[in-house]
Amino acid sequence: MKVYNTLTKRKEEFVPLVEGKVSMYVCGPTVYNLIHIGNARPMIVFDTARRYMEHKGYEVNYVSNFTDVDDKIIKKAIEEGVSAQEISERYIMECKKDMAGMNVKPATTHPQATQEIDGMISMITTLIEKGYAYAAEDGTVYFRTRRFKEYGKLSHKNLDDLQGGNRSLLVSGEDQKEDPLDFVLWKPKKEGEPSWPSPWCDGRPGWHIECSVMSKKYLGDEIDIHAGGEDLIFPHHENEIAQSECCNDKQFAKYWLHNAFLNIDNRKMSKSLGNFFTVREISEKYDLQVLRFFMLSAHYRSPLNFSAELMESAKSGLDRIVNAVANLTFLEGKSQTAGLTEAESEKMKELTTYEAKFDEAMDDDFNTADAISVIFELVKFANTEANGESSSAFVSAIKQKIVALADILGLIVEKEEELLEDDIEKLIEERQAARRAKDFARADEIRGILLEKGIVLKDTREGVKWERV
Ligand code: AMP
Ligand code: ZN
Repeated sequence: MKVYNTLTKRKEEFVPLVEGKVSMYVCGPTVYNLIHIGNARPMIVFDTARRYMEHKGYEVNYVSNFTDVDDKIIKKAIEEGVSAQEISERYIMECKKDMAGMNVKPATTHPQATQEIDGMISMITTLIEKGYAYAAEDGTVYFRTRRFKEYGKLSHKNLDDLQGGNRSLLVSGEDQKEDPLDFVLWKPKKEGEPSWPSPWCDGRPGWHIECSVMSKKYLGDEIDIHAGGEDLIFPHHENEIAQSECCNDKQFAKYWLHNAFLNIDNRKMSKSLGNFFTVREISEKYDLQVLRFFMLSAHYRSPLNFSAELMESAKSGLDRIVNAVANLTFLEGKSQTAGLTEAESEKMKELTTYEAKFDEAMDDDFNTADAISVIFELVKFANTEANGESSSAFVSAIKQKIVALADILGLIVEKEEELLEDDIEKLIEERQAARRAKDFARADEIRGILLEKGIVLKDTREGVKWERV
């Protein structure tokens, strides 16, 4: 498997630190609002990378944080007259709902910055002791950027260019930095803000230190993959490298993976530009599987432009696969022969070639666009080769292959059949009859069948009522 490493600007063979295991950290969202579909891009593409590595047999330890202390969270809390914690808890819950809708697996661990303050104080203390950081008079702690000789290696920037070219890095006159390039590790509290005691002042951590600390705690000093959107390369990931490598004296992450932007009218979709759609808004119009399909129809390192037309074409693409699978289910039920015929056995060999092509695409830096094309080829194969005469073994094998390959991409293409009202009523009637005949085992069995299809029964005085959950 090859992955493109931002650090070396090359596609490299993926060799994990520990055979058979992958440690992966993906920078998560700042939780002060519903996530927009730009934020959803790294969630979907790196969840897909994780699923593919799991498919290859790796045990993946996947950590993704929630930034739950930040200026924007505090601002929102003040606007609503509630605590910052209330805001972050609310939007963590909403984010998890959106993730579930997009079929993004929960991370192995979802750490939150506010739960990891001790670790941050400890890492900052080490950095001060080693001379890489200093506390200014007002209690702000800064990282001494020029002390880290490799600073700039991820973003391929040179320190002097940085200083000359980036005005935002210049001393504002208000801060007490030794050097304009130094960045904040800990900052003093302001009135009304959440704060924690520290050896330097009551205050709160800078953003970058969070990820260094949580990655160290949950994955160790050295990890395989660190990922996020490309806007995080500089300064966030550059600063994470500086902090972690100066603290731990080890290479922080072996492979750095970055997704390109989701754009709208060729500009980055972002909260600050106001040109965004939330995942929730999209879910009102589409099944979120369509959004997932849309994201995976492009390579994760290519910019992707969001438009109504592209969403419609994603919808029809996904429908084509879903319909092929539904047709195969229908043929399965109709088939008159169970075992494979000789001609079918021959055809079955083709199935393995599709899987090999799929893996080849995904092994090439997770080329999901090509992987989806392979699924379409398989759908074409199904539509031409499977028919009313086919054996059920043949039809099932093709169907299972399509479902399995789609599943590696996190796409659900086999729709659970919804029970129609008539069927529900019939089953309820049968259950009542079983109860009258004191066949409680059968009555329970029917309740179970209904529950599996999302139907809950309630025995009331007026009789049995049901509802979908
Ligand atoms: P934020 O909450 O802004 O820190 O973003 C959380 C994650 O979403 C980061 O990995 C960002 O790089 C990513 N992200 C934000 N906007 C976009 C976008 N328009 N396209 C792709 N990724 C984005
Ligand atoms: Zn981060």
